[in-house]
Amino acid sequence: MAIKWKDIRDVFFLTTVHDDVLVEAPLSRGTHRKIKPAAVLAYNKYKTGVDRSDQMLSYNTFERKTIKWWKKLFFRLFDLAAVNAHILHNKTSNKKMSLEIFYEKIAEGLLASACTEIQVQGQSSSAAGRLVGRDHFLYRIPATHAKLEGKSQRSCRACAERSKRQTGKSVKKCTTMCCRKCDVGLCIGQCFEVFHTKLNYWE
Ligand SMILES: [Zn+2]
Ligand SMILES: [Zn+2]
Repeated sequence: MAIKWKDIRDVFFLTTVHDDVLVEAPLSRGTHRKIKPAAVLAYNKYKTGVDRSDQMLSYNTFERKTIKWWKKLFFRLFDLAAVNAHILHNKTSNKKMSLEIFYEKIAEGLLASACTEIQVQGQSSSAAGRLVGRDHFLYRIPATHAKLEGKSQRSCRACAERSKRQTGKSVKKCTTMCCRKCDVGLCIGQCFEVFHTKLNYWE
């Protein structure tokens, strides 16, 4: 229900709770009997809480300048939910937390769930992991205890796959470098590049 109510000045209300009933306002000194919409009375009764909530929101808001009104609305509602959750947390938990820290925990939680999604993607299809991931770097293969003499080597995955598909024979080319993230041996340069940029890196 949308209400416009003229008291001293115009006030506007949107409510999903109240009916369109007029209720007698509680008498205060020096005033005569007044009737007001139930929503107005409820607002007057709880407005200190609303003001306090607005105040809390203003401290830590991540409201951004945007011309899209629905983004503003989203951020506002997000802030509101976060502040309410923070109040409930501090009421029910033995470990009190500042709102600032609470916001950080929310961010950590959201990032953690996003990171697991990416990891799961990478596992279910190794191509997604090697093509999309940004943390792939070339490292020298560490010397193992068995091979203290000379350098540790592995066969290059790109070279091996290429020869296997082109000649039918698996000719291994040794390299001293590997991608740690993929745990795959790769030659410096082209092999590393195509392995991380092309779906069919053997072509
Ligand atoms: Zn190679
Ligand atoms: Zn890699």
